[in-house]
Amino acid sequence: MRDSQYHAIIVGGGLVGASLALALSRAGKRVALLEPRPAQCNELEQGWDARIYAVSPANRRFLEGMGAWPGMERIGIIAAMDVCGDAGGRIEFSARDADADALAWIVENRWLQAALWRQLADSEVDCIGDCQAQSLSTTASEARLVLDDGRLLSAELLVGADGANSWVRGQLGLAASVKPYGQSGVVANFTCEKPHGQVARQWFTGDSILAWLPMAGNRISMVWSTSDPQSLLELPPEALADKVAAAGGHQLGAFATLTAAAAFPLRLVQPEAVVAERVALVGDAAHTVHPLAGQGVNLGFQDAAQLAALLQAAPDCGDWMLLRRYQRQRREAVTTMQIGCDSLYRLFHAKLPGLPWLRNTGLSLTNCCSPLKRRFARQAIGY
Ligand SMILES: Cc1cc2nc3c(=O)[nH]c(=O)nc-3n(C[C@H](O)[C@H](O)[C@H](O)COP(=O)(O)OP(=O)(O)OC[C@H]3O[C@@H](n4cnc5c(N)ncnc54)[C@H](O)[C@@H]3O)c2cc1C
Repeated sequence: MRDSQYHAIIVGGGLVGASLALALSRAGKRVALLEPRPAQCNELEQGWDARIYAVSPANRRFLEGMGAWPGMERIGIIAAMDVCGDAGGRIEFSARDADADALAWIVENRWLQAALWRQLADSEVDCIGDCQAQSLSTTASEARLVLDDGRLLSAELLVGADGANSWVRGQLGLAASVKPYGQSGVVANFTCEKPHGQVARQWFTGDSILAWLPMAGNRISMVWSTSDPQSLLELPPEALADKVAAAGGHQLGAFATLTAAAAFPLRLVQPEAVVAERVALVGDAAHTVHPLAGQGVNLGFQDAAQLAALLQAAPDCGDWMLLRRYQRQRREAVTTMQIGCDSLYRLFHAKLPGLPWLRNTGLSLTNCCSPLKRRFARQAIGY
């Protein structure tokens, strides 16, 4: 190591920052992780978490490789997808189309966080949770972070993993294009009368997008992207369950509400760069996407996995050529996902005459074309 105290300081210990800290530590790097809200690892059995993620096979392998994959008893399997358009269009594809066992696994946020933080507790990572970052500066040879208790931390590299409103990004003066969708993702969990058959169901209704994601047992998790979240949030539990079951044509019978509904504003965030002198951004600090494909945290885990792989044998973690390589490596996957989700969102929200026919016919034609379906399935598991 050079004169710096750490190889890497990571600001933000959400799923992405925590996974990066663990991966770097396993690679023998000296790491500090600054997170004012570390995960609660106890009392997991109490209640279900309405925040869930569809984790891709590649990211399951990344987490499993670090011993940070939660036990399967609370994990749902997506074996197939059934996507309906707003005028009769439909596409169905399954893991078999991609010669895989599952397209993704549905994992509760709290369980995933706890699995990572349990491993962090047994690692050499310095977890700092009792103070806030006050200022950040960089020189050609190191990044320096001043904490509000007066401590000065320095490292070869500082990583911003501090979410869509990234403080690190702001400190660097890195401009970002932020486009609000004018929608929120409303999430809640339900028990359902009929088995979901490990099928994820999604409806593009024209002005909203509803997804039912299969959880363990007869349970589903809903993500309803809507411009009127309040009309769902203010419903009593029974009325919410009835509304959600009805919106999906009662395909799984009657619903009962398992968790209160919560809403998250949706926006597309695209920073002009994700690296600067001695600094890199990962996760939502580096990009956000519409959740219609459930890929936000998957992109973030791949940022962490690929950055950790690049830094593993590096004599200097903040080397500019390495950071440039990280930015180049991630650009295509991130841009493709952002453009893909954004285009799909716009295609199903545009009000042009004839467009509903066109987009629904497109869905149904794709459904009849096996090679295209296999491509969809492979893309679904590819991140
Ligand atoms: C409704 C909805 C549904 C979604 N569903 C899916 C899905 O199914 N699959 C999927 O892959 N993605 C999904 N996403 C996207 C996913 O939630 C995000 O991509 C993911 O949470 C980003 O993780 P992160 O660790 O980068 O950021 P965050 O989860 O935002 O974590 C940032 C962390 O940084 C900390 N922090 C912030 N500021 C500071 C600071 N100044 N100093 C220190 N720490 C700080 C915070 O406390 C927090 O812990 C969904 C998003 C929404 C809105």
